[in-house]
Amino acid sequence: MIRTIAAAASVTLALAPVAAQDEADLEPPLVVAVVAHPDDELFMAPALAALAREGHFVRIVHATPGDAGPGVSNLPKGAALAETRRAEADCSGKALGVSEVVNLGIPDGKLADHVRDGSLAKALHDHLAWADVVLTWGPDGGYGHADHRLVSAIATQMVQAQPEGDRAALFYVAIPAGRLPPVAEMQDWAMTDPKLLAEGIAYTPADLAAARAAAMCHVTQFPEASREGMMGLFDAAMWRGRVHFRKAF
Ligand SMILES: [Zn+2]
Repeated sequence: MIRTIAAAASVTLALAPVAAQDEADLEPPLVVAVVAHPDDELFMAPALAALAREGHFVRIVHATPGDAGPGVSNLPKGAALAETRRAEADCSGKALGVSEVVNLGIPDGKLADHVRDGSLAKALHDHLAWADVVLTWGPDGGYGHADHRLVSAIATQMVQAQPEGDRAALFYVAIPAGRLPPVAEMQDWAMTDPKLLAEGIAYTPADLAAARAAAMCHVTQFPEASREGMMGLFDAAMWRGRVHFRKAF
C-alpha cells in the first residue's frame, strides 16, 4: 500500500523533513529497509537515523538472524547465536531511532532454498506492500554476498510487480566510484558510477553518532576496534555527509 505518490516523492527527491510536506500529506512516508543479516543496516545507518529523526516510520527487516556466523563470537552456530544477533539488531535499531526491527527468521545460509519455494517472497510480501519507500542492497550485494544479492533481487521482483500508483519507490544503496574506504577488507566492494547515484539521504553529526552507537551493538560481528571506527571510516571515505542511493526504476 502506498499512502500517496507525493509523499513517496518527497522522500525520493530530498527526503524533506516531514514538516515541509504539503498539508494534505500529513502522513510521512513509510520506509522499509530490507537486508539479509543483522548488521547489514550499518551500510546505510546514518540515513536510517536521519529518516527516523525526520519523523518517518522506519522498519528494518532482516531476512535471517545470522545464526551461521562466524563473526567474532565464541558462540557455536545455532539458536543461541541467532538470539544474540536478534538482540544486537534490536539494540542497533534503538540506537538509530527506528520504529521497528523485524527478523523473518529464515535460517542463515538457506535463503536460496527459501527463494525457490517462494517462502522468502511470502514473508516479505506484507512489508513491501505496506511500504512507500524500500531501501535495499544493490544487485552487487556490497561485496557480492549471495544473500545480499538474493534479498535485493526478491525485493526488486516484488516491487516491480506492484501496480503503478501502488508501487513503492525502490532504492539501492551504493558506493560512488572512487570512494572505497581505504582498508584492505573493502577493496573488492562494488562501486557505482556517481552519475547513477542521483539520490541521497543527508545526515547530521547526531545521525552519525547514532550510527556509531548502532555499530557498537554488533558485538558478535566485529572486533571492538572495527565497531568503533567503521562509521567514521564510511563517513570520511564514501558517504561524506550523504548516504548514496540509486532509484531502481
Ligand atoms: Zn550481510
